[in-house]
Amino acid sequence: MSDPAKKGTVKDLLHRYDFLIRKKFGQNFLVREDILDGIVEASGVTKEDFVLEIGPGLGTLTRRLSAAARRVVAVEIDGDLLPILEETLSDCGNASVLRQDILKTDLEELIQKENDGKPIAVVANLPYYITTPILMKLLTTGLPVKSATVMLQKEVAQRMTAGPGRKEYGALSLAVQYYTEPVIVMKVMPEAFFPRPKVESAVIRLTKRETPPVEVTDEKLLFRLIRSSFNHRRKTLANALLTENAEGWTRETVQGFLEEAGLAPMVRGEAMTLEEFARLTNVIRGI
Ligand code: SAM
Repeated sequence: MSDPAKKGTVKDLLHRYDFLIRKKFGQNFLVREDILDGIVEASGVTKEDFVLEIGPGLGTLTRRLSAAARRVVAVEIDGDLLPILEETLSDCGNASVLRQDILKTDLEELIQKENDGKPIAVVANLPYYITTPILMKLLTTGLPVKSATVMLQKEVAQRMTAGPGRKEYGALSLAVQYYTEPVIVMKVMPEAFFPRPKVESAVIRLTKRETPPVEVTDEKLLFRLIRSSFNHRRKTLANALLTENAEGWTRETVQGFLEEAGLAPMVRGEAMTLEEFARLTNVIRGI
């Protein structure tokens, strides 16, 4: 099989198989060879690696991953793509396709069965409608995943990498930066896809951290504080915490926590670093 990403081949394939593109599955196929190559290069995948691909589509990225990795398993929800994938991956002996919804896939079992439970690399041109739930499942639930190199909406990539004081900074930035080291590898214009998406895209590489960059004894509380503060962006942190006050704190108690954590009484969550949220968490838990 020749490379289906070559100019014109994607449309030929879709036509030959009478394939109807399903917007509801986020089907925007990459038609730029240099970008497909760039994703694989950025992933750093080698012949040692087991790769999980999400949404192989027509198999353009899968073929490249198959050449770079030891083994590739690609999870695709749309059964109508299977005959196409059979053709485009016919000479890729180390790649297989599972017809499944990635959100319903038991990844722990898959990694155990396919890679003896050892850490895997994830590479994908993601279906954008489920970007955040997929990445949260992969990176925050303790699964053995060492990195995820994925195409997603540019705006989401910017939220993931933003720091305090930027308008994109929020709960997603802090969650991603707590669990991973995120790097935007390239920005990608809509012309690189067929059909063209409405938004600009970016490739981000998220390398899972061995240990979080801050130490907290109560991770749940850390993320609860983060969520509360960004659920009420315009309020001061103290007011945000008092609004969602599950623990029945008084204003004096909250001001006491802030003072002990070395935070200004009027501080807002959007100006706070991960270290400051961690300090506040540990003060509240009396550490
Ligand atoms: N990898 C191909 C490429 O780069 O051209 C296709 C990428 S396309 C943006 C997203 C792919 O994810 C589609 O093939 C779509 O059918 C598949 N997909 C959508 N939702 C999915 C889900 N829940 N589980 C698995 N695959 C899904």
